Order: sequence, then C-alpha cells, then structure tokens
Amino acid sequence: MKFKDFVGNDKVMSEIKSLMQQNRFPHSIIIEGEDGVGKTTLAMLIAKWAVCSSENDDKPCEVCNNCYKAENNIHPDIITITKPKDKALIPVDMIRVIRSDAYVLPNDAEKKVYIIDDSDKMDAYSQNTILKILEEPPKTAMFIMTCVSAYSMLETVRSRSSIFSLLPVDENTAVDFLSEHCPSYSRDNIISAVKSTNGNIGKSILALDDSYFSNVNETAEMIALAIGDIYEFSLLASLYTLVSDKNFAYDVMKALIKIIRDSIVFSDKIKSLSMSSKSVEYLAGRLSKRKLLKLIEVLYNSQKALDSNINLNLFVTWLCIKIRESLQ
Ligand SMILES: [Zn+2]
Repeated sequence: MKFKDFVGNDKVMSEIKSLMQQNRFPHSIIIEGEDGVGKTTLAMLIAKWAVCSSENDDKPCEVCNNCYKAENNIHPDIITITKPKDKALIPVDMIRVIRSDAYVLPNDAEKKVYIIDDSDKMDAYSQNTILKILEEPPKTAMFIMTCVSAYSMLETVRSRSSIFSLLPVDENTAVDFLSEHCPSYSRDNIISAVKSTNGNIGKSILALDDSYFSNVNETAEMIALAIGDIYEFSLLASLYTLVSDKNFAYDVMKALIKIIRDSIVFSDKIKSLSMSSKSVEYLAGRLSKRKLLKLIEVLYNSQKALDSNINLNLFVTWLCIKIRESLQ
C-alpha cells in the first residue's frame, strides 16, 4: 500500500506528506479517530515509509526488502503493541520492554517504529514510562500511538507528540473505494453498508463481511437440507444459487464441508452439540457415515474444480450429479 491508496482525509494526509518531504516528521505522533476510520492502516503506512530504504522521495517504494517485510508484518524494526484481549489495559511490562528496546539500534532499517494501538488503554504509570522516552528520544526511534481521542492521553504525552485526527470519508469516496477493493460484494450491498456507517470504511467492511458470511452460511444450510431431501429438484435448485459468483461458491463449499464434518461427529456422538445447526442433525439422522465421508470428498473436489476456472453452470450440474452418486 502506498500513500495514494489511503483515501480521504486529504488535509491530514497532505500535512503528513509535507512533513516527510521536509524531513521534519515528528518522532512521536498520535493518530486519533473513531474505530474503523483507518488509524492502524495509516500507522502501518507511516512505519513502512520510515523503514523504506529507497533513495526516491516516493516512499514507501514497495520494492525494497524493508517494504516487503513491512507489508508482510515481519519487519523486525516495526514493533506493534496491542492490548491483550483478556486484559483491560496494556500491561506496563510491555511498555517497559519498549523503553529498553528503543535504545538498541535497529536491525535492518535506519529507524525502529513502535506502534501502540489503543494507546488510551495505558494507565498513567505506563504513559509516564513512555513519556520518559519521548522526552529524550533516541534518534533511531519513532512512536506512533493510535486512540479514539487524544484527549484521553496525559497532557504531557500529548504535548510531546503531533496529533493527527482522522474522520470518516464522504460516502461516495467510501463506496468507490470498497467497490474497487472488495469486488465480491454487490454495489447495492456496499452502498447500504456505507450509509449505515456514515462512510466509515472499516465498519463498512465488517458489516459487509457479516451479511456476506451470513448469506454464505444460509446457502450452505439450504444445500445441506436439500442433500438430505429425496427430490433431486430441490438439490439442483439450491445449487443454482451458486452460478453468479465463483468466490461465493467457493466459500459455500467450505461452509458445507464444515456442516458435513459436524454431521459425522454428531453421528459419533463425540462432542457437545449445542452449536449444531438444523442441517447437521438432519444429515446425521439420514445419511450413514460412509456416505457423509464420500460427500466430503466430492466437496473437496468441487473446490478444486472452482480453482480450475470451471464454467459455473457446468459446475452446478456436475456437482449435483456427484452428490447424488455419493448418496447411492
Ligand atoms: Zn521501500
């Protein structure tokens, strides 16, 4: 990802780029804004810029070794701190590690970048520990903190940092961005997701994923019930929902494999079944374990067929025949 790919927030972005071009980028910044607005994406982009070894101005170059490692989240000089899921706060021990590590020279790049996500989840003691480094920062260290509001941080930390505020983008920009980057969703779905989140791209993606995967699971459930049905027509009809989109068909096959697997476990009465869907019980009651295993093999082959760019109409007909065969 390059800076031109970060959509919206033009004023903040031009301010950031101008500081970079003038070689005046601060050693500590706070990026504030609501969840899903792009704070972590921007933090990673800045970190990539900081480690990029290109001689050009257009950093990150996306071709150097440092950019490659940053893009794949394996750069040893980009250290991200996030609050552990089971803790209410970022433990002070994590901050102490940063404090000593910051004085050690970088491994590959000229700078080490510390990204502290949800920096407002540091208590006053932790923030004061960070403050000590910010007051006398090693030349090779850079700190990027992200939080909903910089005002939830200590005033002393704020005053040592430059603050950049991100806002949701306008709705048209968000729709264009998502249409380009998430082509598996229909434009209508994208528009309703963007409207419901007021242009918050991160939240729109979550909403789209939610509705997309509930659609995937409902379709897999419908096909599973049709497999247990004695009428071939309902199976073929349910499979025809797959002809419009290859990625969707692939995800449905994956969900279907899970249902069949659960049915086998259900037959074995191995584990607690409180999470089982209606189709799991239905199939377990109607099909022998041998048939269920044959079905799984067919579904794995169906994923291979989708990988090989089979025509989707042909795919559905083929799958219907193979499923029927496996039930004999
Ligand atoms: Zn680079």
